[in-house]
Amino acid sequence: MEKKIIYLDNAATTRTKPEVVEAMLPYFTENYGNPSSVYTFAGQNKAAVTAARETIAKSLNAQTQDIYFTAGGSESDNWALKAAMEAYKDKGNHLITSKIEHHAILHTCEYLEKQGCEVTYIDVDENGVVDLEQLEAAIRPTTVLISIMYANNEIGTIQPVRQIGKIAKEHGVLFHTDAVQAYGQLPIDVASENIDMLSASAHKLNGPKGIGFLYIRKGLKLRSLIHGGGQERKRRAGTENVPGIVGFGKAAEIAHETMDQRTRIEAGLRNYLVKRVLSEIPYTRLNGHSSVRLPNNANFSFQFIEGESLLIMLDMKGICASSGSACTSGSLDPSHVLLAIGLPHEIAHGSLRLTLSDETTLDDIDYTVDQLKEIVQNLRNMSPLYEDFVKKNKK
Ligand SMILES: *Cc1c(COP(=O)(O)O)cnc(C)c1O
Repeated sequence: MEKKIIYLDNAATTRTKPEVVEAMLPYFTENYGNPSSVYTFAGQNKAAVTAARETIAKSLNAQTQDIYFTAGGSESDNWALKAAMEAYKDKGNHLITSKIEHHAILHTCEYLEKQGCEVTYIDVDENGVVDLEQLEAAIRPTTVLISIMYANNEIGTIQPVRQIGKIAKEHGVLFHTDAVQAYGQLPIDVASENIDMLSASAHKLNGPKGIGFLYIRKGLKLRSLIHGGGQERKRRAGTENVPGIVGFGKAAEIAHETMDQRTRIEAGLRNYLVKRVLSEIPYTRLNGHSSVRLPNNANFSFQFIEGESLLIMLDMKGICASSGSACTSGSLDPSHVLLAIGLPHEIAHGSLRLTLSDETTLDDIDYTVDQLKEIVQNLRNMSPLYEDFVKKNKK
C-alpha cells in the first residue's frame, strides 16, 4: 500500500487544482500562439490573458490595466522596491519595512542599502503585529515607500493594512504590500485600503508555480525590472506565460468564489488542531496572533526540542510540515520572524508550522496530533535540557 501523505505545508506551496490544470492545457497544445503576433491564431491567447487580468483586477477592486504579470512573488517584490526607490530618488532614499518580511523583501532591502538607500525595519509586538506608532514616527521627508506584508508566511499574523495605507496616504508616502500569503485567503480592496502596489503569486492559491503579478496603481512611474520587448504595456518584457496566466486567472476565480466557506472550514479545523496541541502537549505555545491570523496557519513552539528533528520524525510518519529555522541556507539560525516576536533562541528552535488546505480532513488533523504527541515526548525523553528540567521540578 502506498504511504499516505498528509500535506500540511500549504504556506510553502499548494497543489494546483485539476480545474486549473485543465484550463491551462489548451494553451500549451492548441492555442500556443504568441499573444503579441498579429495573426488571428494568436488572438485567442491575447483574449485569454486579458480575461485573466480582468478576473484578478476585479478580485482586488483594481483597474484591469494596473495588473502586471511577473514570474512570481519574489520578482514582484523585487520590482516594487527597486523600481519605486529608483523612480522617486529625487524625493529621497528612505524606505520603511518590518522585521518580519519574507526574504524577497528583506534581501532586496539589503541590496538597496548597498546602493545607498536607507532602510528602517519596524518592530512587531509579541503577536507579530507591526508597531503603528513606530511606523508613523519613522516617516521622514525623504521617505519614498512603506512596504509591509499583508499577512506573515510563518506565524500567519495579519497586519493592520488599512491603517498603514491611511498613514502612508496622509504622509504622501507610497505603500506596497507583499500579499503573497493573503491573496485568495482574505478579501483585499486596493482602493479603499490605499494600497499603491501589491505582490501575489499563483502557487500559494492552488495555481501554477512561476507566475505572479504586481498591482501598480495608475500614475506611478515605475520602470521595468526586465528589459526586452514591449509586453505588459512596456513594463515587463518577455513573452507572456500564457498557460501560467490562464491558470492564475482560474485559481484566483476559484479562490474568491469559495473564499467565505473554504476559509471558515479551514479555520474551524485549524482551531481544533490548536486546541488539541495546546491542551495535550505540555510546554507548548502558539506563535502569532490568537485570532487575527490566516485561517489555515498554526505555528507552535515546543520547549526542549529541535524543530529539525521534529520535521524528520513527522516526515517518517508521512506528514509534511515546516519549521522556523532557515535550514535551506545550510544555517541553523532560528527564524527572524520568531526572534522578532521576542522568542528566545532555544524556544524559536523548537518551532513547527502547520498550514492547512481545503483538502485537509479532521482525520488528518487527529492523526497528526496523535503522532506529534508521541514524537515530542520521545524527543524530550532524549533531551538533556528536559531531563534537567524534570529533575529540578521534582525537588
Ligand atoms: C512564497 C512567498 C513569496 C515568494 O513567492 P514566489 O512566487 O515563491 O517567488 C514572497 N512573499 C511571501 C510572503 C511568500 O509567502
